Amino acid sequence: SATRDVEIRTGPVETTDGTEIEVAANVGTSAELPGATRQGADGIGLYRTEFLFLDREQPPDEDEQLEVYTDALDAFPDGRIVVRTLDIGGDKPIPYLDADEEENPFLGDRGIRRSLDADADLFETQLRALLRAAMEGSGRLSVMFPLVTTVEELDGARDTVDQVATTLEKEGIPYAVPEIGVMIETPAAVTMAEELAERVDFFSIGTNDLAQYVMAASRESDAVADLHDPLHPAVLRSIRRSVEAAHDTNAWIGMCGEMAGDPDLTELLVGLGLDELSMSAVTIPTVKAEVTATESETARELADRVLSASTKAEVHEYLEGE
Ligand code: PEP
Ligand code: MG
Repeated sequence: SATRDVEIRTGPVETTDGTEIEVAANVGTSAELPGATRQGADGIGLYRTEFLFLDREQPPDEDEQLEVYTDALDAFPDGRIVVRTLDIGGDKPIPYLDADEEENPFLGDRGIRRSLDADADLFETQLRALLRAAMEGSGRLSVMFPLVTTVEELDGARDTVDQVATTLEKEGIPYAVPEIGVMIETPAAVTMAEELAERVDFFSIGTNDLAQYVMAASRESDAVADLHDPLHPAVLRSIRRSVEAAHDTNAWIGMCGEMAGDPDLTELLVGLGLDELSMSAVTIPTVKAEVTATESETARELADRVLSASTKAEVHEYLEGE
């Protein structure tokens, strides 16, 4: 679908029958904020904070991070900003953090695992900056943790948030506690979705990693690219299960992997029950146009049909037979 000549819609969009779908931008730096605004983003659905830590010799300190997060909140005074805590390891090594070379980095010390252990100091500094920004900035802040696989990890991360809040309180520094969420990117998180949902305000599905781990197919390998695809029934059913678990506890659920920005899949994703879609800014106008052309009941029927498929080929048949 052409991204040219599509009307830019600022403000929330809804389906033909009035279901509002939040359409947000994925960003990694302050420089990307104006572009997100220009394309009509409702907010930021994934702020990848790794970029703040790359290409330098020292990690950014609390004040530098406070400024970055406050900038994002001020760019969307009526919107929501979902900041993901540092997600390094795997494909994203950082030179000044000593990390052992691992044979299987994608199955190793990455995401929340490092934040709770090897990078605990960085995690605390980042959370201090985030809690202060939540008070200082205009928009609403949400914070999410990457690569969660266990309830203990989530509990550990939440404990750190509480400790940071207590310390800021004692120091007399103004802060606010943001919404807390987890990324759904592993089969373990899907399997434990009910228990995780009880402990958070929201989920955001990272389909790039979820497809990789559900299908046991590296996101970096051309040889298995056909398997690394969220349209496999196993991945789609993982998405459905996560949505149901979230909605059973009144948590909201978004998607910030690449799948969310494919306008050919907007109707399916609305039908699966996603409340928010976050993507690279350029695709926002097209996806917003797709949302306004979608009817909820038809979308749900499409999702049910697609979920009944046994193979990716059947999934494609149902999507195209529309
Ligand atoms: C994902 O895994 O889908 C995701 C959005 O995170 P990243 O691509 O940064 O790993
Ligand atoms: Mg990921």
